[in-house]
Amino acid sequence: MKYPPEPFKIKVVEPIGRTTREEREAVLEQAGYNVFNIPADKIYIDLLTDSGTSAMSDNQWAGIMLGDESYAGSRNYYHFEQTVQKIFGFKHVIPTHQGRVAENLLFSTILHKGLVVPNNSHFDTTRANVEFNGAEAVDLVIDEAKDPNKILPFKGNIDLDKLEALIQKTGRENIPLGMLTITNNSGGGQPVSMANIRATAKLLHSYEIPLILDACRFAENAWFIQQREAGYADKTILEIANEMFSYADGCTMSAKKDGLVNIGGFIALNDDQLTQQLTNRLILIEGFPTYGGLAGRDLEAIARGLEEVLDENYLAYRIGQVARMGDRLEEAGVPFLKPTGGHAVYLDAKSFLAHIPQSQFPGIALTVELYLHAGIRAVEIGSLMFAHKDEQTGTIQYPELELVRLAIPRRVYTNSQMEYVAESIIEIYKKRQQLQGFELTYEAPVLRHFTARMQLLA
Ligand SMILES: *Cc1c(COP(=O)(O)O)cnc(C)c1O
Repeated sequence: MKYPPEPFKIKVVEPIGRTTREEREAVLEQAGYNVFNIPADKIYIDLLTDSGTSAMSDNQWAGIMLGDESYAGSRNYYHFEQTVQKIFGFKHVIPTHQGRVAENLLFSTILHKGLVVPNNSHFDTTRANVEFNGAEAVDLVIDEAKDPNKILPFKGNIDLDKLEALIQKTGRENIPLGMLTITNNSGGGQPVSMANIRATAKLLHSYEIPLILDACRFAENAWFIQQREAGYADKTILEIANEMFSYADGCTMSAKKDGLVNIGGFIALNDDQLTQQLTNRLILIEGFPTYGGLAGRDLEAIARGLEEVLDENYLAYRIGQVARMGDRLEEAGVPFLKPTGGHAVYLDAKSFLAHIPQSQFPGIALTVELYLHAGIRAVEIGSLMFAHKDEQTGTIQYPELELVRLAIPRRVYTNSQMEYVAESIIEIYKKRQQLQGFELTYEAPVLRHFTARMQLLA
């Protein structure tokens, strides 16, 4: 079956209000045309992110009631630790309240000025944590990943020649770790193949550089390996995950994605000495090593979520729901980043609104129209987020891609709601010539996309 139906039934519902076009017009004006400023109650379908937005199962909610809130040695910690070890296989497990704290702990301990961290593509919090500690974050994803129309099974792979060239140029002593983000969030939710993970580990290890996986969407990545890579069709998701992590020396994880919870994360490692250093810092900034900034009940929900995410019926439905939206758009000729990723569809705003130059934020024009037309919230990943002034020449450097990401929360929206999203996008595509560009009226000095205010160009 191409798009398997939901492998669950609905026990609790959360009503969502509908708004009129006039109300949405007023909301947008008040929000300075920035969807980050819109109250969530005014949104019908919220595709801002798949992070922390999952629906938990009855089994996870039951686990919440079994939370043991002991300061030290909560039974939920042991269940969590056991589950992480079963899937990820690392010796030590340190809970944190989000993925970025796992990054912060690791990078603040081992990075300093002059060091370099290679990755296929750094996620924005990963890059920020590397740079905040004075090091340089280098993206080495394969060149084909930059072509939105190129269809490849593993478009998240790192370019091994570029990786080796970087090590030779920088010197292994200046590269304390290498990373791979699975799946590659900043690169369109594209998976990394087992062969690429294995070869990356082999190359890094030949220079005695450890490999740390950014594992947020490990189960979705494992699903793609099972479906697309020779030799894995008969392996379970757990077996594939075990193999992926067997090549690595540790991982950072935001449980807000494939942990199927609303808050949580961890770092898992084999190195005893490094673990001890991180644990000492953890106590300073997060909490005791058996809770790490989380309640016992949260640890129980993560342990149960990590078991549930391995279910092939769930993954087939999950990836199928995203693929189905991509296929609907493809039939209508709507341009988007191909192939469809694991957790999101990324509209290609540059082609969608070819009449709006990058200096007038085509991604914002499309994001605004999605809300105005249909009450849908997406996020621009384009010039508002990434364009910057070149300090030397004074000219503005625009990003290669202008994307609008529609991230699909896990187990939250029905297939008919997703059909509504696809239809709305197709309607907008048909009247795309009417859309106009935007200009900024306010911008903050850093990470301006969160708080920028804009207006329609006259
Ligand atoms: C979400 C995410 C993070 C950061 O996790 P938070 O829980 O949001 O702090 C790191 N890497 C990737 C690839 C992510 O998607």
